[in-house]
Amino acid sequence: MRLPFVTLTLLATSLLSNALVLPSPEQFLSQQFLALNKEDLKEQVIQLNAIETTGSLPAYEDLPLVDTDDLQNLITLEDLNSTAIDLYHIAELSLGEYGHPTRVIGSKGHWGTIGYVLKQLKKLKHYYTFETQEFKALDGRVLSSNLTLNGEPVEKVKAFQLTPGAHVYGANLFFAANKGCDESDYEGLSAGNTVAVIQRGICPFGDKSSLAGKFGARAALIYDPLSEDLMPGTLGEPTDTTVGTLGITRSLAESLTEESIVDVEINAFVRYITTKNVIAETIHGDHDNVVSLGAHSDSVEAGPGINDDGSGTVSLLTVAKQLSKFKVNNAVRFAWWAAEEEGLLGSNYYANSLSPEENAKVRLFMDYDMMASPNYEYQVYNGSNIDNPKGSEEIKNLYIDWYNKNELPWVLIPFDGRSDYVGFIENGIPGGGIAAGAEGLNSQNGEVLDECYHQLCDDLDNLAWDAFLVNTKLIAHSVATYSKDLSSFPEREVESKVNDVSENKKQSKFLYRGSHLIM
Ligand SMILES: [Zn+2]
Repeated sequence: MRLPFVTLTLLATSLLSNALVLPSPEQFLSQQFLALNKEDLKEQVIQLNAIETTGSLPAYEDLPLVDTDDLQNLITLEDLNSTAIDLYHIAELSLGEYGHPTRVIGSKGHWGTIGYVLKQLKKLKHYYTFETQEFKALDGRVLSSNLTLNGEPVEKVKAFQLTPGAHVYGANLFFAANKGCDESDYEGLSAGNTVAVIQRGICPFGDKSSLAGKFGARAALIYDPLSEDLMPGTLGEPTDTTVGTLGITRSLAESLTEESIVDVEINAFVRYITTKNVIAETIHGDHDNVVSLGAHSDSVEAGPGINDDGSGTVSLLTVAKQLSKFKVNNAVRFAWWAAEEEGLLGSNYYANSLSPEENAKVRLFMDYDMMASPNYEYQVYNGSNIDNPKGSEEIKNLYIDWYNKNELPWVLIPFDGRSDYVGFIENGIPGGGIAAGAEGLNSQNGEVLDECYHQLCDDLDNLAWDAFLVNTKLIAHSVATYSKDLSSFPEREVESKVNDVSENKKQSKFLYRGSHLIM
């Protein structure tokens, strides 16, 4: 289903009882944004934390205890709509630099998003403390990539994300043994004008590229022996020896011989930029039993990312705003992660930098990425307690029970590393989440869930407002349920966690880092 953003047709769910008169985009054009760059932002965070709350707000003691139905009833389409429109206009701040709206890290659109989230939180200063967390993120761009075989251009090639550039002409080939994951697989490769050909499998793409470079290859070609498809992979963080790397098809790889001569030309750069996570926590509630949830504040470069993950960003802001009308028993921590699209960098940085004491206080993490895909389905991450920290299954069941209660169909989707829960799971914290779908097919109608996934058209027309409202109510339910009572939720298994972390990471079961295949 694909609904225009200002007209909501008849919706067959009792959840949608709100008035459906939505404001026009023009009504939001006058928004002043808090910060457009890092320096402004630093100054404003300092100012925000110094501001005294003014006006007459009810004392915290006078608020009712959080109740899931009451909180859900406060989630309105008008709020979701106006905030989404704001985000779109923020994405347009990048027009000058990128030629199209985007909220990619480092852009005005992304700094504007961070500023906007902080500005909204400022209005809730009586209820939340907030902070930003700065970290370095890899930012890579591939401007062009070409491969020629015996002088003929090869059509189907794909540069790996975060590949360095390469300018190699008239090179011979070296075929790595096995999967190219061990030094011995490169025996016989002599430094010179050589390009390595490597099979996918066993170790990350980045390890293969780095090893090939270490033994003297000047570029690398990787193919999947099990599939003809090109891989949408990333090399991850480069090493000193990472070389320019292209993905090629299996049929091309199988046609290559030791007599083949190739040219590899990649114009690309990889650089570090700084960006920020935003984290807000209720002032009240038990800070030794923290309920945490997150969405990502950035988009890909190609477009404004209004569904991915403008929707989650908006949902969290809306729930945070309405939660402030209630007392909570357990503290709630909202996070807006940066650099998810570069490989979950913000959430990983956050989860990895928690001290053991702080880690132990986080009872669970819930991920909300893409809440309103136009041809949506109600997807629940299939996290089990056997493969994940204990509690992951309870989170999954909370979502399933709620969809069942509201007579909405749901599907389970793999818990395979495609969003910001990875850092939490790898650090022993139970996790879960819901989504409305990306490039996959809707299990009911066989059509793509979000045709505009990672594209320029992920704009205000790319939101299914009924799914947006339903899923934001479910987020409210998850927050209300756990902030009220965690007594039946599994305790953290902290003892085993400390020793397991590095092991967990080494043997990570996740094939993805965000949307990028890593191996
Ligand atoms: Zn996303």
